[in-house]
Amino acid sequence: MEIENRESKIENRGALFLDRDGTLIIDKDYLADPAGVEILPGIPAALRRARELGYELFLFTNQSGIGRGYYTLDQAHAVNARMDELLGLPAPIFREICIAPERPDQPSLYRKPSPRFIQEMIARYALDPAHCYMVGDRPSDIESGQNAGVHPIAVCTGKLSADEWRDLKIPALRIYADFGRFVDAL
Ligand SMILES: [Mg+2]
Repeated sequence: MEIENRESKIENRGALFLDRDGTLIIDKDYLADPAGVEILPGIPAALRRARELGYELFLFTNQSGIGRGYYTLDQAHAVNARMDELLGLPAPIFREICIAPERPDQPSLYRKPSPRFIQEMIARYALDPAHCYMVGDRPSDIESGQNAGVHPIAVCTGKLSADEWRDLKIPALRIYADFGRFVDAL
């Protein structure tokens, strides 16, 4: 008898859940125009490397600008499409994308720090939480990872500097200068 693994695409059952603004692209506060997308340095190579290591990639972004009426869901999709284009990696880059459109004061199932998207993806793709990471530039990113039982990873390319992250004294938080440095350590 031979048992064959036919699901080699997710080799380590691991995944990276990635914030968008301040993690993959420059955070421009309520970015609505695809022409404004600027990829942070080193991101395409780091994403490529993460995929080579067998990690599935998921995009997990709060976009309260939609709930606030600053831009539409279609515009958010257009920004994501422009980001994909600039990343230049084989499509689809992200296995699934979660855009949480609510304002902070609105009820929401998915808005970070909710763990729900991460939990649903872990169940849907039979991921191993021990090999899953939530990477972001804000405390709400970290909290969603903690709430989902995956490793929280802080980057310093957005809202907070390394000193500001350290001042928060979040137990077991790993802090990297940028996403590329984190992938180097995987
Ligand atoms: Mg962010």
